[in-house]
Amino acid sequence: MVPVVSAVSCDSYDLELVYNSVKKALDDIDFKFKEKSVLIKPNIVTPLSPEHAATTHPSILDAVCRILTENNCKITIGESSGDDKTINAFELAGVKDIAEKYNAQLLSFELCRPILSEINGKILKSAYIAEPIINSDLVINIPKLKTHAFMGLSGAVKNLLGVMPGAQKQKMHVKAVTMQEFTQLILDLYNFVKPRLNIIDGIIGMDGGGPVKGKPKKTGYVLASTDAIALDIFLQELVGLQDSYYYSKIKPYRQEIKLKGIISPVKYNTATSFFDDSRFLPYKLKRFNREFVIGRPSLIRDKCDKCGLCEQICKFDSLKLKPYPNFNRHNCIKCYGCYEICPKNAIFIEKNIIARQILKLREAVLSLK
Ligand code: SF4
Ligand code: SF4
Repeated sequence: MVPVVSAVSCDSYDLELVYNSVKKALDDIDFKFKEKSVLIKPNIVTPLSPEHAATTHPSILDAVCRILTENNCKITIGESSGDDKTINAFELAGVKDIAEKYNAQLLSFELCRPILSEINGKILKSAYIAEPIINSDLVINIPKLKTHAFMGLSGAVKNLLGVMPGAQKQKMHVKAVTMQEFTQLILDLYNFVKPRLNIIDGIIGMDGGGPVKGKPKKTGYVLASTDAIALDIFLQELVGLQDSYYYSKIKPYRQEIKLKGIISPVKYNTATSFFDDSRFLPYKLKRFNREFVIGRPSLIRDKCDKCGLCEQICKFDSLKLKPYPNFNRHNCIKCYGCYEICPKNAIFIEKNIIARQILKLREAVLSLK
């Protein structure tokens, strides 16, 4: 079957407008709800309110829950956020209110039974997946349009990392060290979970230092598809980030996809540099590049209040509070979990000095063209 992507213009989070936009997107892709037990997997990465544009907006969740209620579905909303404090994150992101309004069950995946699942992917062979993902009749994947410090873009496929409860998510960066490996890992996970409906909150996205440190950017779209890869292809074209490795990996599939709607690109900028996406290097040099060339987390001490969140999220014994965060460069695998979680913006990604000089030179050469 030819995958269809719907792109519906929607320029605000007004409840009625979003409801009509989601309905139109579902009509475009001819999606009908037959299932009774539905699990919504939003992107609630960290405890932040909707204005930060780091989390799926409650208006989108409201629209989807309203449509599911009209179809007599039993609704569950589930997530495992980056810092394992999903319940707090649900509250701040406005998800708890939506769950109450629609009598939906709210699940923090780290408190659910993990099921050891045979993924049988090229990189990901097995993983613990939250039980509700396995047992629901229908999974609806509802990511937020955001840039991503490691992947370039956090789209529909990447959002599925949150089906893994707790610290396992961070440990995936050990299995998949390079961007190429990580791309394959999330594609492996997608092929296992295969949500049958994907809806992207692209009304106001996050530009720059996503997935949590960027700036809100009005983009004006609700996108939907039964195929998350197809959706990500058009998402990347919408925000002009087709030069990422992830895009190059999924692009061959593009000619098979039918787009309903018109996409007017809105240029986003990502914090990743071409060093992060070292596709031009042989494998051994990719690892060298990741270890010695690409940016590493560093502290701005004046901003740090010693809250300890960064230490809690680091699963690699590479960050200890003494009493300020102290990085063990040797152990750090550059997953950027500490950078993403810091509520005070006290951690930044410091580029290696050689990389900085080469990037400057590259920019100078490009400006001459
Ligand atoms: S760096 Fe950020 S997360 Fe870590 S202790 Fe300081 S304020 Fe907290
Ligand atoms: S120090 Fe930060 S970037 Fe390094 S492994 Fe720990 S959480 Fe990841």
